[in-house]
Amino acid sequence: MLRFASLASGSKGNCLVAQADGTVLMLDCGLALRETERRLARLGLEPAQVSAILVTHEHGDHGGRAFDFAAAHGVTVVLTHGTAEALRQEGKVLDGVKLRYVSGMEKLALGGIEVQPFTVPHDAREPVQFVFSDGAARLGVLTDIGASTVHVEQVLSGVDALVLECNYDAGMLAAGGYPRWLKERIAGPFGHLDNLQAEHLLGALERSKLKHVIGAHLSQQNNRPELARAALARALGCEASWIGLATQDDGFDWRSV
Ligand SMILES: [Zn+2]
Ligand SMILES: [Zn+2]
Repeated sequence: MLRFASLASGSKGNCLVAQADGTVLMLDCGLALRETERRLARLGLEPAQVSAILVTHEHGDHGGRAFDFAAAHGVTVVLTHGTAEALRQEGKVLDGVKLRYVSGMEKLALGGIEVQPFTVPHDAREPVQFVFSDGAARLGVLTDIGASTVHVEQVLSGVDALVLECNYDAGMLAAGGYPRWLKERIAGPFGHLDNLQAEHLLGALERSKLKHVIGAHLSQQNNRPELARAALARALGCEASWIGLATQDDGFDWRSV
């Protein structure tokens, strides 16, 4: 059985955990060390149970605190060369932490979980997102992507569970108070997915096995939960209440596939 939960989702910090048997993988770590520990405890996990931290990219809400946790608890950090280099330049790569490099080209096994990194267009050095599998079920996680690609849709087709970015509502972003450069960055091809792009991406996937769909990385300024939910529900032709949401304060509780 593969189970997963989120500690937090959004621009103030992201962190998700996936577990199969004795293997617990952490995906991104954008929360302060004590807060990460506190939220792990909320999910019934001890830091010592975490086998590795996978980092999607160097932005502070994803890779920002990964090395703090890794150094404190002797956990290996799994990341691309580009992400490592970017974090190194910011002084965030701590001595003594074991690194394992991945690329968007090959799968790897981490304990009982097979991990498939895949490349995405985003304004970071070498960003990847991940699919997790226990050999039976697959969980796809996709946030921080400016636009969908054929490759992304191929990788995510047939997953059993999907955590999918619904960053903003295009109308709210355009009408909101962000400076123009930031609006252009968010809405650009290397920024984030809006609700409609997420709806189209989900609609393009092979969805026959999907048991969980969770909207994630919602902007607190430029989106509303009901808009994200409605968009993903339209793609599936389901009730909006069936769609889960990952929140900044609570993430979401354990789900299993
Ligand atoms: Zn982000
Ligand atoms: Zn990012």
